[in-house]
Amino acid sequence: MVERPSKLSKNEFFDLLAALFSSLSSCFRLMTGTVFSKNKRIVAAGYNGPPAGIPNCEEVGHRMIDGHCITIHGEKNAEMNALTDLNGGTSHTIGTPCIDCVNTLLQAGITRIRYIGSYNNSKGKEYIEELCCLKGVPIIQVGTDGSYTLGLLRRVIDRLRGEGGIFHGLPDECFDFRQNEENLPKQLC
Ligand SMILES: [Zn+2]
Ligand SMILES: [Zn+2]
Repeated sequence: MVERPSKLSKNEFFDLLAALFSSLSSCFRLMTGTVFSKNKRIVAAGYNGPPAGIPNCEEVGHRMIDGHCITIHGEKNAEMNALTDLNGGTSHTIGTPCIDCVNTLLQAGITRIRYIGSYNNSKGKEYIEELCCLKGVPIIQVGTDGSYTLGLLRRVIDRLRGEGGIFHGLPDECFDFRQNEENLPKQLC
């Protein structure tokens, strides 16, 4: 029997959600996703990619300018999807945000920036802390690699293995993700 872990805090949950959104990306230089939260609610989400209807990086390769793929960044897509103004909100993003996105977040009134893991090729990353500091906006790096997010995911899975959870009753082998798919009981997994 798996011990039921506590549920994620709202910040942890939105961080994990940003990671889930990043799985929709097709830019394999950096698969990123962004969630904006405000008053502990999700007000926007997005991931990086070309404009809708245009072949993506997976299909035609990266379109590069000055060492950067020209995809629309996750923060920008999230801003365009926003249900409300972002004033006073928090940005949760996968990877180090670029200077263009940080500029836009600050201008949109975001008052807290959390980024998960890091991205070394992020444009202007050496300026982002200074800019946030001048505006009085905390910018927090949560974990330097994927282990933080993986830990959150494990907690969610283990919690849902408890009574009442969607994974409750599934046998242990379904949760051994290192196994080959062929080894898993097909009717259950
Ligand atoms: Zn790309
Ligand atoms: Zn950016």
